[in-house]
Amino acid sequence: MTAPDDARVPRDGTLPPGVAVSASPLRSAKVSLSGWGRFGGDRSVAYRPESWRALSDAVASAPEQTLIARGLGRSYGDSALNGDGAVVLTERLGRILDLDEEGLTVTCEGGTSLARLLSFLVPRGYFLPVVPGTRFVTVGGALAADVHGKNHHVDGTIGRHVEELTLLVSSGETLRCSPRENAEAFDATIGGMGLTGFILSARLRLLPVETPLVRVVKRRAKDLDELLSRLYEEERLSRYSVAWVDGLARGRSLGRGILMRGDHVPLAEVPRGRTSPGGLPESAGPSVPFDAPSFVLGPLSVAAFNAVFYAAGRDGTTYAGFPGFFFPLDAVGAWNRLYGRRGFIQYQALLPREAAAEACRRLLEEISRERAASFLAVLKTTGPEGRGLLSFPRPGVTLGLDVPNVGERLRPLARRLDAIVLEAGGRLYLAKDSLTDAATFAAMYPRLAEFRAAQGRLDPQGRFSSTQARRLALLERR
Ligand SMILES: Cc1cc2nc3c(=O)[nH]c(=O)nc-3n(C[C@H](O)[C@H](O)[C@H](O)COP(=O)(O)OP(=O)(O)OC[C@H]3O[C@@H](n4cnc5c(N)ncnc54)[C@H](O)[C@@H]3O)c2cc1C
Repeated sequence: MTAPDDARVPRDGTLPPGVAVSASPLRSAKVSLSGWGRFGGDRSVAYRPESWRALSDAVASAPEQTLIARGLGRSYGDSALNGDGAVVLTERLGRILDLDEEGLTVTCEGGTSLARLLSFLVPRGYFLPVVPGTRFVTVGGALAADVHGKNHHVDGTIGRHVEELTLLVSSGETLRCSPRENAEAFDATIGGMGLTGFILSARLRLLPVETPLVRVVKRRAKDLDELLSRLYEEERLSRYSVAWVDGLARGRSLGRGILMRGDHVPLAEVPRGRTSPGGLPESAGPSVPFDAPSFVLGPLSVAAFNAVFYAAGRDGTTYAGFPGFFFPLDAVGAWNRLYGRRGFIQYQALLPREAAAEACRRLLEEISRERAASFLAVLKTTGPEGRGLLSFPRPGVTLGLDVPNVGERLRPLARRLDAIVLEAGGRLYLAKDSLTDAATFAAMYPRLAEFRAAQGRLDPQGRFSSTQARRLALLERR
């Protein structure tokens, strides 16, 4: 058993006297914040506590002020914004607390980034059982969104792999939550977008891996039907699968794309002469230094990029370092600036399989008709639902697209997309959503009332709120 960062913090996550108590008083600043899509934004009070004690001071102080946690700000919309209240930045609460190699678990603070965790774990032969498409998210943010990866059809969401977490609630109490203990709080916190309290720490199960390499099988598909049937047929052949879709192809090529399947590579299979990349940088590659002018991501340049990508995506098997397969966008820092000052939204819909082909076609047609160029359209299959009351994935297919802010045409476009998703019996993802409304959201999430009731019991004073929670009426009216 190893305690990498601070052996004094016990695994049950309770606040022991004297642990990392910051002598400095809790300071706040007024800051402008936005989500990753840089669409909209808020000015709010921000705290950046250096210790759990300082965090509980933030909860105790200014009881009239609402609070929300903010990790690395990779949610696209307004989940980690709180225009009327305060935002608590968790970046200084990022210690890895314990690696249990016998029990195959790692325990860390909620502000620990997956980048930091993976650079600690992979050289020791472990991987996280679920990772999203970027490693620049915190454990708290990943659990609050109950993130899914390219293996949802096999492994479910991250919430399925949490042994336990500790939650600081508005009374100042720390609750230990798991599927067996404080289960209602657990189910409301996993996917609860920070509205139940602060995730102070979590113990996550690990996946042993022999190498940092991934065997990648690529298959090109000429249209949406072929791409979807490849995804359905081949998902059981690999642990991970994802398809990139050319969001701008029209007519007979609508929905053409490339299916990519992946599996961790055992040592015996490492190709001769291939040295495994050892370390993993904890920061992104070179950053986009300024907001791109709008022509950079105009329909013409994106169509050209997509055509080149499609043409280069030859069928075959290759070996990739895991960052290239799991986190391709992390290679470019601040890539969200490519969409210019006006920003963009990410539209991610989950569609039941029986309705997926028709609904995906209609979504792609709508976006293509608006010439809202989408660089990145991603299709993944999803498996059974998890425990989180507001968790996004359920059996089906998810389609995620970046949609640039096309000014006043954006809201009506989003409404039309929402109508297609609702009609198909689908739903939207809170971690991505910027524009839907409360009635649409409620129609998509049948367990919303249960969530509101559980949240109300955990936070009777109504201390936790966010701009998104108010927009979508996620909380009980008090
Ligand atoms: C390029 C890219 C690819 C992505 N790919 C995927 C993907 O494949 N699958 C997927 O599921 N998601 C994906 N996402 C979304 C991302 O995983 C989630 O938005 C995640 O929540 C971001 O974590 P964060 O630390 O940046 O949290 P933030 O964006 O800062 O916050 C997100 C939510 O978590 C809450 N939160 C943060 N920390 C805590 C805490 N300590 N305690 C309680 N609540 C907390 C916040 O209040 C907020 O509601 C992607 C995002 C990007 C930018």
